[in-house]
Amino acid sequence: MFVDSHCHLDRLGQSPEQLKQTLEFATQRGVSHMLCVAVSVREYEQMYETVRGFDNVSVSCGVHPLHQEDACDFVTLLDMASRPEVVAVGETGLDYHYSAETREVQLHSFVDHIKVANVTNKPLIIHTRDARDDTLALLNEHKDDSTNGVLHCFTETQEMAEQAIDMGLYISLSGIVTFQSAKRLKKVAQSIPLDRLLIETDSPWLAPVPYRGKQNQPGYVVEVAEYIAKLRGISVEELARATTDNFYRLFSACKRHH
Ligand SMILES: [Zn+2]
Ligand SMILES: [Zn+2]
Repeated sequence: MFVDSHCHLDRLGQSPEQLKQTLEFATQRGVSHMLCVAVSVREYEQMYETVRGFDNVSVSCGVHPLHQEDACDFVTLLDMASRPEVVAVGETGLDYHYSAETREVQLHSFVDHIKVANVTNKPLIIHTRDARDDTLALLNEHKDDSTNGVLHCFTETQEMAEQAIDMGLYISLSGIVTFQSAKRLKKVAQSIPLDRLLIETDSPWLAPVPYRGKQNQPGYVVEVAEYIAKLRGISVEELARATTDNFYRLFSACKRHH
């Protein structure tokens, strides 16, 4: 059984019937659970409506660092993230690669999300790109010891992975690890302790080899798992079991389906 720890099912551009088929395909491939991650609080309701009929899909709530035009105030974020169906806060974080000019707003928003995670006691879904020092510094400064989280779609350095793991965080790998150019990331993928590793598609983006360039979907998390298992010299069953256990440990509000 696999879990897709991070996807955007509302961004697939599919009709309800098509989405049903996409999720059936995922189930056929052994994907038992999916976490549908919000990128905007303003669009949260719409996202929730899209997936609420599926009991193998959970949802998060937050504002993506690259969607600061949708930035919301602390009270609204706290209110929305407190809703009972919301299992995690995010995605939040810092992205200076694509949007260094919104740095100040991103920092402010990230701190709000960390505080909301502390108050709601829900884990953080963190997006971090070319912002290693600020990401870790803000987590160190604001995160309660009881608050945990994941660095999702990780593409940063070995050093950052180690620092994050020392803080108790999880690391999630996407289809990027299957790309030939991702040499540094393949090394990181071999070194993350098995009890801190998650897998994801980040669909509709970043389809793994051999689907690269096509629209991604949760069923393709199997290729991510197979690739990492091979890199680490373990069976895909062992990798699937560990990453699934890790998922339910971190996102403890998700109901486990067998
Ligand atoms: Zn992201
Ligand atoms: Zn995402």
